[in-house]
Amino acid sequence: MPSPTFAEWQQRARDLGIEGRAFIEGAYCEATAGERFDCLSPIDGRLLAQVASCDSADAERAVSSARTAFDSGRWARLAPARRKAVMIRLADLLEAHREELALLETLDMGKPIGDSLGVDIPAAARALRWSAEAIDKLYDEVAPTPDDQLGLVTREPVGVVAAIVPWNFPLLMACWKLGPALASGNSVLLKPSEKSPLTAIRLAQLAVEAGIPPGVLNVLPGYGHTVGKALALHMDVDTLVFTGSTRIAKQLMIYAGESNMKRVWLEAGGKSPNIVFADAPDLHKAAQAAAAAIAFNQGEVCTAGSRLLVENSIKSSFLPMVVEALKAWKPGHPLDPATNVGALVDTQQLDTVLGYIEAGQAEGARVVLGGKRVLEETGGLFVEPTLFDGVSNAMKIAREEIFGPVLSVIGFDSAEEAVAIANDTPYGLAAALWTADLSRAHRTARALRAGSVWVNQYDGGDMTAPFGGYKQSGNGRDKSLHAFDKYTELKATWIQL
Ligand code: NAD
Repeated sequence: MPSPTFAEWQQRARDLGIEGRAFIEGAYCEATAGERFDCLSPIDGRLLAQVASCDSADAERAVSSARTAFDSGRWARLAPARRKAVMIRLADLLEAHREELALLETLDMGKPIGDSLGVDIPAAARALRWSAEAIDKLYDEVAPTPDDQLGLVTREPVGVVAAIVPWNFPLLMACWKLGPALASGNSVLLKPSEKSPLTAIRLAQLAVEAGIPPGVLNVLPGYGHTVGKALALHMDVDTLVFTGSTRIAKQLMIYAGESNMKRVWLEAGGKSPNIVFADAPDLHKAAQAAAAAIAFNQGEVCTAGSRLLVENSIKSSFLPMVVEALKAWKPGHPLDPATNVGALVDTQQLDTVLGYIEAGQAEGARVVLGGKRVLEETGGLFVEPTLFDGVSNAMKIAREEIFGPVLSVIGFDSAEEAVAIANDTPYGLAAALWTADLSRAHRTARALRAGSVWVNQYDGGDMTAPFGGYKQSGNGRDKSLHAFDKYTELKATWIQL
């Protein structure tokens, strides 16, 4: 079946019925206080839905439901192969509803429909499927004890997990958590961002259809300072997993310390360096990748390659190639399948991005491309991909995460200098380098303090490899079997023989 056309997506957007209620104990419900907030589309400002604004009373209700479900064992003690079957059904349902979910994602946060349909939704289904398929293949251990002892090392689900997720890849970030959390047998409270709650809410219904028992997955839309904070401070939440900003990540560690010392696992911000050496094997490919690294998803990507470090000997010839590549990334209507740059998520994010562009100019960096809001007449929140040259790593635009399509170019003269600049950041999520020299590739990759390092590519990744950050980009890892560490406790059981 061919994918829908622009006109068909627009028609579907008009016809779409949108659920905005919370989901607790296997059913949709209003927030206890009856509060709702307006969910607006950044494409044209239209009201998509009024969404339940949960608070501490809802957190209370949902945690109690999750705890009861966990203690009952109706999910936690199900044979792993049976949990697997249910979760694979859920992954199948995501795929079966991919067009509806993609439409919700695009209307809600402004990303191009081609990306929602081709990247976000399939990757979310893959994340659930991969974790589900792993769960009946993970064995526990027998310790190498003296002959008169049997030492069993077993993994058990932690219990009640709160997952607080951001708005840039709403369903995908949720599924990176839900996959291993549910596969391990936990009960989960999912709090989507108030800026993009719609696919999480829809997912809840699909989970019921797949056979996830009541109480095992609850979805609590609402603000961070209300329901998010209530979950983070709750005495009966065992583990808090988070993807979002470093500022809030730090706050969550404080909440955990102030409450029950719940385990806290954080995937936070980034300011990733993309280092291009003069001997890069294919400078054209490097330029294309540098453009994609900052323009994909409007630059609202934790691993955005926002600092482009270029060896000074090739800077004057390489930069025009990046500028040309970046011109192919053009803001357009997010429901048009030809669009590759959508709208920024909301007016707050628009102001933030424009504020950084102003700050860059004020500090003396030079705008080579872009720099402005565009398509304002549509009522949408669009910013041109923007390239700054003449940036020093001390400038605000090089130090702070902008989370928009703004690229800072910084020159360097030696590998040592490149690594020093690359590592001179509070973040450590990802880094890339381009060189044909095998030894330099390995040496530089080792020296970079980042959770993912890409050589002669940008943004490689798969469910088979861990993803997460060094330093203030977080702790723990999503994806791969390593992710299961966050959702399980290790128990040593000693038997005297
Ligand atoms: P954010 O930190 O503002 O919000 C993230 C979530 O935390 C939202 O659901 C929000 O409601 C909630 N929250 C806010 N205040 C809270 C509080 N006091 N208590 C509890 N919860 C609270 O981040 P964002 O703007 O939604 O997302 C963008 C950030 O996410 C960027 O910094 C980006 O780098 C990061 N991110 C990281 C990764 C990764 O894997 N490392 C992936 C995607 C996004």
